[in-house]
Amino acid sequence: MKASRAVDGAGSTHVETKLFESLGIAHAVLSLIRDDAGDVRRVALVACNEPFVEQTSITVDVGDRFLREAFGVGARTALAEFVEAAQGDTKALSHYYTSSGRWFACYCRPSRDDRLTIVLIDVTAYRSDSALGLQREQAYRSFIEHLPMIAILRVTAPQPVSLFSAGSFREITGYGPEQGSSSETWLEIVHPDDLERVRTAGERLMSEPHHDSEIEYRIIRRDGDVRWVQSYDRHFTSDDGTMQIVQGLILDITDRKLQEQALQQANDRIQEQNQLLEQLARTDALTGLLNRRAMQEQLERELRLQSRGRGRFSVLLIDLDDFKGVNDRHGHRAGDRVLVHLAETLERQLRASDVCSRWGGEEFMVLFTGTSGEAALNVATKLRIWFAGHPAEIDDQTLAVTFTGGLVEATDGDAVDALFARADTALYQGKNAGRNRIVGIMSSGATVERA
Ligand code: GH3
Ligand code: MG
Ligand code: MG
Repeated sequence: MKASRAVDGAGSTHVETKLFESLGIAHAVLSLIRDDAGDVRRVALVACNEPFVEQTSITVDVGDRFLREAFGVGARTALAEFVEAAQGDTKALSHYYTSSGRWFACYCRPSRDDRLTIVLIDVTAYRSDSALGLQREQAYRSFIEHLPMIAILRVTAPQPVSLFSAGSFREITGYGPEQGSSSETWLEIVHPDDLERVRTAGERLMSEPHHDSEIEYRIIRRDGDVRWVQSYDRHFTSDDGTMQIVQGLILDITDRKLQEQALQQANDRIQEQNQLLEQLARTDALTGLLNRRAMQEQLERELRLQSRGRGRFSVLLIDLDDFKGVNDRHGHRAGDRVLVHLAETLERQLRASDVCSRWGGEEFMVLFTGTSGEAALNVATKLRIWFAGHPAEIDDQTLAVTFTGGLVEATDGDAVDALFARADTALYQGKNAGRNRIVGIMSSGATVERA
């Protein structure tokens, strides 16, 4: 057996150290280190014998890092017990599970100058539950490792410690565990477009203890694949107030996201198609004007507005003159071109607020919003004259056509059918009077003709 490692100042305990060494018992001398206020902050290893080095793997060089090196997470409990022991007699302290992976019973005897002599007895074999405990821990670790998500435990203070399930980490990110060793290395693989959001959420999480956070974002795997993850984090202080802890779960939700996106795209397409169908259902295919159904709806809306005192309006029913003859002389296709020519004329000559429609066949209907019968009569007359003076151009020919119009102003309590019937009456009178003219039935009931 090698010589003991007592250092200067260990004093009379040197003999004792040698004695325990010959018995194969771990023995050490500790010194409590106080701050200016007199509180014990650290414990230094001052001397130890060879069995101590063999059993704990700790040498005297460790100095005042002794507690952390020897007991790891149990360091704080050990410190409290040593401080308490320093004030009393020889006593047995807790069993310690040390960094060397063994359980020790610790006997402590205080001496003057804040010195403690400790004897450690390896009780690993006697801790009946230790094997079970280890088995349980292994089973638990394996369970965590194979979860289809990354489980993370980060202690941020007093000492930064990071534990996480390396197996699922590699599975999800493609990277080795070093990439998950801190929040900074994790941020390196966050998608640039999501980085700001993730960083902000992280800062909020850390600035507010007892704060929960949930966030979805993308990461870029080692192979370049973009994956969606959902991250749940909880930041809290340990029960004894000594540790800041962050617990996190990171799930790969790429499949769900892709399904959601596909569903969203399908919904968007259906909505677009519905809008198109809706538009088609309201549009006349030949002229592109509103069809009769759409115009009827528009008239109903106008009548409702009018009943609420929101302005008057007038309606012009147009019917092409001798259109049968146009078809007969020039063919149905030329007839169609004339219909398009009239539609273009209406759109070009009238105000944007006037609504034009193909009412059916060679009949058109115009709704003049906010317009009295007299004013509409003037507009309709100008329109008729313009149309009669601008023949349709069909191939190399021009084809002069005229129309007759029946004009009415909507009255209080009017209905679409009644409005149309009056317009049709006016139109009929115009046809009978010789065509190519506008006949108006004014709200007073008077009939006016403009040739
Ligand atoms: P009037 O001056 O009395 O209105 O005489 P008209 O010949 O125009 O009247 P009528 O109602 O007898 O004829 C309407 C014609 O319009 C009959 C039909 O062939 C034609 N027509 C209706 N719809 C279309 C169409 O979409 N294209 C073409 N080219 N002709 C159409
Ligand atoms: Mg007709
Ligand atoms: Mg006609």
